[in-house]
Amino acid sequence: MYFTFAGNPIHNVDPLGNVVGVGGSKAHKNAFLARINSGKTQFKYVKGNLELKDPKQKVEGEFASQLYEAIKNPQKIVLRLIPASKDAQTDQFYFGTVDMGDMLKGTNNIFKQNVLHIVTERISVPDYEKKLAEDRLTEADYNVGHDAGLLAEVKFLKELFPKLDTHFWEEDEYKQDEVARTHSYVFIFTDIMLIIKSKYLKADDGNWDRDNYGEVLGYSYEKVKRGDFEELDRKKRQEFELKRKVLNVQY
Ligand SMILES: [Zn+2]
Repeated sequence: MYFTFAGNPIHNVDPLGNVVGVGGSKAHKNAFLARINSGKTQFKYVKGNLELKDPKQKVEGEFASQLYEAIKNPQKIVLRLIPASKDAQTDQFYFGTVDMGDMLKGTNNIFKQNVLHIVTERISVPDYEKKLAEDRLTEADYNVGHDAGLLAEVKFLKELFPKLDTHFWEEDEYKQDEVARTHSYVFIFTDIMLIIKSKYLKADDGNWDRDNYGEVLGYSYEKVKRGDFEELDRKKRQEFELKRKVLNVQY
């Protein structure tokens, strides 16, 4: 994967410059900034890295607070913004990329939720950028990062839906629509779920591939009706709560 990106300008971002760098086309970088600046706390780029627009401004809300913490975190990461890719659903942990073709299909809040997930996921893996460059990221790294990313989302959702129970429960394939050739993947946060709808893609053999979620059509929040997911193993939620305690994440 390293060689795939050799000479690609998105790799020529200096990850040592600051803490959360953003690389990619100017249009994507501008679109990214516009989306994360839809709240009160404003950010800007300084040499490709995210910083508070006004260092003296109050950092308000869960999104800005978590992003600001990530910026101050000594762990350095770069979000490599790429155009719509059929190989990526929202982002690719193992490639360091963020699929702006997908990301821009979400509302501002869903965009921010995705940013928090991606940033936290990468920052939670020690030496993420070094391992990425050396092609040494493992599944264990992914699991640690992904869990931390989900917990970051929970904190964000708690603020967005204060009256709902928003503990992470499960993520899974949700619905296949063989007629419309779409599939949905769902992240269930107890009372609210984030649904990612994608379209079937043609596989190399010419058949429709119902397992590739790479081309996102849209993201949406939907309230979970009691009893909707009775079939899911409740043990999984308990296991996740245990992880939360081990990671010492408060919410
Ligand atoms: Zn993840």
